[in-house]
Amino acid sequence: ATDFGMDTALRELGLHTINNGTSTGSNWFSNGEEISSYSPVDGELIGKVKTTTKEDYEKVMQSATLAFKSWRTKPAPLRGEIVRQFGEKLRELKEPLGKLVSYEMGKSYQEGLGEVQEMIDICDFAVGLSRQLHGLTMHSERPGHRMYEQYHPLGVVGIISAFNFPVAVWAWNTALAWICGDVCVWKPSEKTPLCGVACQNIIAQVLKDNDLPEGISCLINGDYRVGEMMTTDKRIPLVSATGSTRMGKIVAKTVGERLGKSLLELGGNNAIIVTPDADIKMTVIGAVFGAVGTAGQRCTSTRRLIIHESIYDQVKNAVVDAYDQLRIGNPLDENNHVGPLIDTDAVNGYQNALEKVVQEGGKVVVEGGVLSGEGYESGCYVKPAIAEADNSFEIVQHETFAPVLYLLKYSGDVENAIDTQNGVAQGLSSAIMTNNLREAERFLSHAGSDCGIANVNIGTSGAEIGGAFGGEKETGGGRESGSDAWKVYMRRQTNTINYTTELPLAQGIKFDL
Ligand code: NAD
Repeated sequence: ATDFGMDTALRELGLHTINNGTSTGSNWFSNGEEISSYSPVDGELIGKVKTTTKEDYEKVMQSATLAFKSWRTKPAPLRGEIVRQFGEKLRELKEPLGKLVSYEMGKSYQEGLGEVQEMIDICDFAVGLSRQLHGLTMHSERPGHRMYEQYHPLGVVGIISAFNFPVAVWAWNTALAWICGDVCVWKPSEKTPLCGVACQNIIAQVLKDNDLPEGISCLINGDYRVGEMMTTDKRIPLVSATGSTRMGKIVAKTVGERLGKSLLELGGNNAIIVTPDADIKMTVIGAVFGAVGTAGQRCTSTRRLIIHESIYDQVKNAVVDAYDQLRIGNPLDENNHVGPLIDTDAVNGYQNALEKVVQEGGKVVVEGGVLSGEGYESGCYVKPAIAEADNSFEIVQHETFAPVLYLLKYSGDVENAIDTQNGVAQGLSSAIMTNNLREAERFLSHAGSDCGIANVNIGTSGAEIGGAFGGEKETGGGRESGSDAWKVYMRRQTNTINYTTELPLAQGIKFDL
């Protein structure tokens, strides 16, 4: 990967000393066992970080709690100014950070850059929002009284993130949490720890330049055991967790037991409905990008194509032809479409899905397989595969985090396709390809898609930060990013002020002394 300028990128991100466990960062620095980060791109060791011990965690929490006391009193627009500066630093470091995302996680360099762009976009959004943390005013039923509501900072926000968006998900949370007056403790995925250190280095510099405590942004490292330090910690009023449904169920229970709040962004099982009125060319591009982009490792990846029987063969053939054109290889090389899976466990999950779909009666129409030989030494490169299947198959009901696309056939009305689309446990992203207004509106109506995201004539993946992002059912119900998602990072207070010399009670209750 040196050919692609990785050494320079690591240097620009302050990670050149990471191999021996030292770095320019401060409060992320931990003393536990080492995690080695190997690139799925070429199997090389990128660097090592140490995990957070209980003692380290206590220190982090003390610095975060202390930082919160001063940060919450800074006017929100001035907090916005810090987020603006952070966005500026990200603009400067977009290329090296995008490269690191690509090299440590395995997504294409273009998608790595896109992820950093999302961070920049959410910073811009948060800066504007820092002047718009509005509450409502209401009319009181009592004479001479005024009522209104306001939003106050919540405290320390815990962030647990997944490997597949190793930097953007953190920024979606922190940019909003910071302008809301919260401080953050972040546990990145143990599979992408260097992306975490790189981000911490960037924000630490911004905080230092402004004489602000680094406790405003804290990093902890390690696997679920380090995550549990936060989920069980009463000092953390909100835990925002992104990852598998399996993880979300545990986090929801643990945080719920102490009546904390959790914001859950979990797995998807996303479908595109292709009706007889679809534009086939657009459908193919949307479906193929959705299924093979990030090697099928997006929460919004297209897993199912629900195609009307009248155009089934036409769509199937066009998608199969498009798969023939795919180039699989080093994601830093911009000629390639598909990079590696994150690790060999993910490869096993992919192989298992392909075996299971056949066992359950499905038919493979684009063969899968693990690639070996020159350029594929990491053992993480697989061929995107397509199988004809039925929605009732157990494996189709399950999110396989890999490039496996299932073709499902429907007949009759679009209602039947919507029933199939909704007939899974997850509810993240959905799409319909149609030029028929009735079908499109039906899909978007109260009787339509049950997902948090429902698109017309675009695929399932690739959300913009302006909208609220998240999904229903086993996707966890959380919303992040745009719209009014900021409200979850604040506590709401209703205020009633009496400016008379009387004390009338609500509901007309009499109480005379
Ligand atoms: P994962 O569930 O294995 O891990 C996610 C994070 O949770 C990691 O940081 C992990 O250390 C931590 N964790 C795991 N168990 C925990 C526990 N008991 N307590 C506290 N922390 C715990 O997921 P992954 O393999 O990294 O990511 C892939 C999954 O993430 C997919 O299911 C994907 O759909 C989902 N995802 C969802 C969204 C979304 O916005 N809905 C976005 C990205 C990824």
